[in-house]
Amino acid sequence: MEKIRMKVPLVEMDGDEMTRIIWKKLKDELILPYIDLKTVYFDLGLPERDRTNDRVTEEAALAAKEYGVAVKCATITPNRQRVEEYGLHAMYKSPNATIRAILDGTVFRTPIIVGNIKPAVRNWKKPITIARHAFGDIYKASEIATDRGGRAELRFIPNEGEETVLQICDLDEPMVLQGQFNKDSSIRSFAHSCFRYALSAKQDLWFSTKDTISKQYDQTFKLIFQEIYDTDYRKRFEEAGITYFYTLIDDAVARVIRSEGGFIWACKNYDGDVMSDMVSTAFGSLAMMTSVLVSPDGNFEYEAAHGTVTKHYYRYLAGEKTSTNPIATLFAWTGALRKRGELDGLPELERYADSMEAACLGTVESGIMTKDLALLAEGGSTAVDTDGFIAAVRAAYEGRFTR
Ligand code: NAP
Ligand code: MG
Repeated sequence: MEKIRMKVPLVEMDGDEMTRIIWKKLKDELILPYIDLKTVYFDLGLPERDRTNDRVTEEAALAAKEYGVAVKCATITPNRQRVEEYGLHAMYKSPNATIRAILDGTVFRTPIIVGNIKPAVRNWKKPITIARHAFGDIYKASEIATDRGGRAELRFIPNEGEETVLQICDLDEPMVLQGQFNKDSSIRSFAHSCFRYALSAKQDLWFSTKDTISKQYDQTFKLIFQEIYDTDYRKRFEEAGITYFYTLIDDAVARVIRSEGGFIWACKNYDGDVMSDMVSTAFGSLAMMTSVLVSPDGNFEYEAAHGTVTKHYYRYLAGEKTSTNPIATLFAWTGALRKRGELDGLPELERYADSMEAACLGTVESGIMTKDLALLAEGGSTAVDTDGFIAAVRAAYEGRFTR
């Protein structure tokens, strides 16, 4: 069988621990036998980040910007304990934060759905993707908790012109205060990423804030989204047969629960943090969640939403077989390859991604799955280890593979 050729390489970012082991297994068993894989490889494993003083992470992000599509393995974000464990020269920043800062993107998280794992919300039939703005608001807020009464003001000193002062409160008792901000430029990037992603996924886009209460702050988000939609995207949305829909966050929550799914829900930073945990839990498991970072100028970085599964890695090192779920990592690869296929006009690469995902989901639906899913599945299941699962997916793929 002839392997599928690629035109432009993927940017490949290798990672740490159990996911690094799975990364190699997936390539060897499910990708390299079928694709003449071209990648520009960066080793984001902790030892190499340490050796290069984290330059490798920056280089990988710049390459993602240059080539347009990247696939990333989960990586360790070092804390004090990791500094000791790996004898690091520094407590490096989270690779995802470094990459996000360079690509200036929005994170889209989508559950992977299988027939024998029912969502907790019965009417959800299609995935709900959360698009989380990952800058500002309470995550960059300044706070004061007072131990006495006093007067608080919100004061803005412009670079030119007169300052603005608003009285917040004047109280005779202890109080808590918080000042938050966001940048128009970041809200614009967020909006562009969401509109582009909706076009690429061919799904409706919902956006919600609390603009009736927050008449300046949240209202600005709403107005920027509307302006960008009207000038840059309305026509393309109409052509694609999809809609942009703005509503209040409380109305959105009610509609989401009553919906069938199958749309993208853009959320401000805090709302996205909370709602993505709710949505992923209601759909089943973090090991069944894909994540893609989309930059406003149209670069894509695909990954799994979970971490490096450290506990399983220690068992692996002790020589045990582990039943670690490789699905989200496999879908990071198929997502990236499908995007390359789309961009480069290679329908056979897109078809490969579709059939591989179908083979993987079909395997789970036939009752063969890793332990984490066997605990959730209805209608009988056999829990296998990671190697057993990958072998079953390969068999399913070859079974249905006709060209
Ligand atoms: P984790 O790797 O997501 O694992 C937490 C637990 O969730 C595991 O112990 C396991 O539960 C379950 N789990 C997660 N993924 C699974 C899978 N594919 N198959 C089966 N079970 C799975 O989170 P963590 O242990 O908090 O973090 C470990 C490391 O990952 C940390 O160093 C952190 O910095 C890093 N991290 C990286 C990223 C990223 O690169 N995007 C994201 C998050 C965390 P059981 O043990 O009960 O089986
Ligand atoms: Mg959270």
